[in-house]
Amino acid sequence: MANNVLKISDLKIAYGGIQAVKGIDLEVNEGELITLIGANGAGKTTTLKAITGTLPNCRVEGHIEYDGKPIKGLHSFELVQRRLAMVPEGRGVFTRMSIQENLLMGAFTRNDKVGIADDIDKWFGIFPRLKERATQMAGTLSGGEQQMLAMARALMSHPKLLLLDEPSMGLAPIMVERIFEVIRNVASEGVTILLVEQNAKLALQAADRGYVMESGLVTMHGDAQQMLNDPKVKEAYLGEG
Ligand code: ATP
Repeated sequence: MANNVLKISDLKIAYGGIQAVKGIDLEVNEGELITLIGANGAGKTTTLKAITGTLPNCRVEGHIEYDGKPIKGLHSFELVQRRLAMVPEGRGVFTRMSIQENLLMGAFTRNDKVGIADDIDKWFGIFPRLKERATQMAGTLSGGEQQMLAMARALMSHPKLLLLDEPSMGLAPIMVERIFEVIRNVASEGVTILLVEQNAKLALQAADRGYVMESGLVTMHGDAQQMLNDPKVKEAYLGEG
């Protein structure tokens, strides 16, 4: 039996008259890296925001279970306490805090001082640019550096499930490669990941399974490698065929 970390059933979300998500099912099992791909406006970000309870006022129907329990109505800090972390689209770093302070904020649910210091060292090792700029305000970092910081900050909480919304957006190709390398490494350390991405090729190459969303519906899901070879996916999302 697969061990569900996240189970979404018949999720429907409407912004006023716009039905952005029209009844989707999605499962993420422990240790999996799952990607959710699809065109602009397909409903991917809306789905992630429904998980974290960060949607604006709108109608939400259906069920979302995390770690075997419904998570509706929980505050962001309660989700982090339950080891669910998200890196939102646009990163969401604390721009007026230093890099070091941002990382410490990511560890607010922990009280193991030595472990926290070790983790900061670990992330400074993985992203030396952050170390060089440790005391600089996060708002002065480049987009790629902010993405690195946002991921490191989220991982400072030792999440069981990490939600990533478009981590490659707006980044130079070399930075995209680096970010994906880190995503693969984090997954191989056992963190369960749900990755929303426009770069379908890189996302499917990194993922175990994939879901395609079109106009608010899941139109395809399955093994990521098989999806990479699927003629419909190739034509619509990989620019091939
Ligand atoms: P993108 O990759 O462009 O972010 P997406 O798949 O993440 O696309 P969503 O951002 O979830 O798509 O948007 C789904 C639909 O919901 C779109 O039609 C969008 O215009 C609409 N929508 C999103 N946010 C709001 C909002 N706050 N108010 C009204 N409509 C919204």
